[in-house]
Amino acid sequence: MTSDRIPEADFPRRPLGHWPTPLERCERLSALLGGPEIWIKRDDCTGLAVGGNKTRKLEHLLGRAVADGHTTVVTFGAVQSNHARQTAAACARLGLRCELLLTRSVPRADALYETSGNVLLDGLLGARVRFVTGPEDITAALDEIGPAYVIPTGGSNALGALGYVDAAFEFAEQAADRVSVDRIVVATSTAGTAAGLCVGLAEAGLRTRVEAVAVYRSVEETEAALEDLVAETAGLLGVAAPRGGRTVHGDWLGPGYGVATPEMTEAVRMFARAEGVLLDPVYSGKAAAALVGLVRSGRIGADETVVFWHTGGAPGLFVYPDDL
Ligand SMILES: *Cc1c(COP(=O)(O)O)cnc(C)c1O
Repeated sequence: MTSDRIPEADFPRRPLGHWPTPLERCERLSALLGGPEIWIKRDDCTGLAVGGNKTRKLEHLLGRAVADGHTTVVTFGAVQSNHARQTAAACARLGLRCELLLTRSVPRADALYETSGNVLLDGLLGARVRFVTGPEDITAALDEIGPAYVIPTGGSNALGALGYVDAAFEFAEQAADRVSVDRIVVATSTAGTAAGLCVGLAEAGLRTRVEAVAVYRSVEETEAALEDLVAETAGLLGVAAPRGGRTVHGDWLGPGYGVATPEMTEAVRMFARAEGVLLDPVYSGKAAAALVGLVRSGRIGADETVVFWHTGGAPGLFVYPDDL
């Protein structure tokens, strides 16, 4: 779904997903937590090779790549990057060559971690996977690959974030005659998702707050990334950057990116058993842990309505068997 505020002539888009993704009520989860009315926005169901939040960004990024005549796409991520996997799928769909430069940014090097889950799917989808260790390695790989459209980690530049401006409009239309939402809780790493939502919600005239849960870097670094990207995304669209209406939460990162926490494990089990919804250990599981923690500590009130924005990631479940 595209709003007229993102003109196709300026921002060519390649359709890759199934829109709108469902907005579903979670009555059993609400009852279990004794309070807020909880809904879930199913961006795990975007339809592209197990789905996830990168699909919306890729519609804009690859729209531009194809319009500019590129035939090769390069992107970056962790070994178990959902972004890399969705990029591989999107490239397959569009007949583009896909080169993935993956970094071992999680303290694990076991065979399961390096061969299963997303990285298994990358190969299946026809992408070329290279493990890289530093800037020199990356420069050498880029030289070898030659001319290509380069997508930053997580697809998070202003163009990618437009996918979540679209998403905010889609959500506003979906919620309009059904529910008035106080807050959205969403996992945040490179911040394109949260930034696009902040800009889009403001443009759609909604006052829904965004609770961005840091799962990758410190709260300060995540805030800085989010603020920059809100400004850049608004700038790209030629609208005013919204002020306020967002909070970054740092209490659910635990020891670091991709490292399991007891709160994550509890939340993943809770969503699975109360709602039949599969989260992931790296992103949505920690965001759900934040939702649970904010409700239990009264920071989200029992009379509020909250949307948990599911960003996908289920392939990651298969590489964390010991924690689940
Ligand atoms: C990439 C990713 C996120 C984070 O999105 P950003 O736009 O990078 O902040 C959240 N959840 C999942 C499952 C992801 O793959």
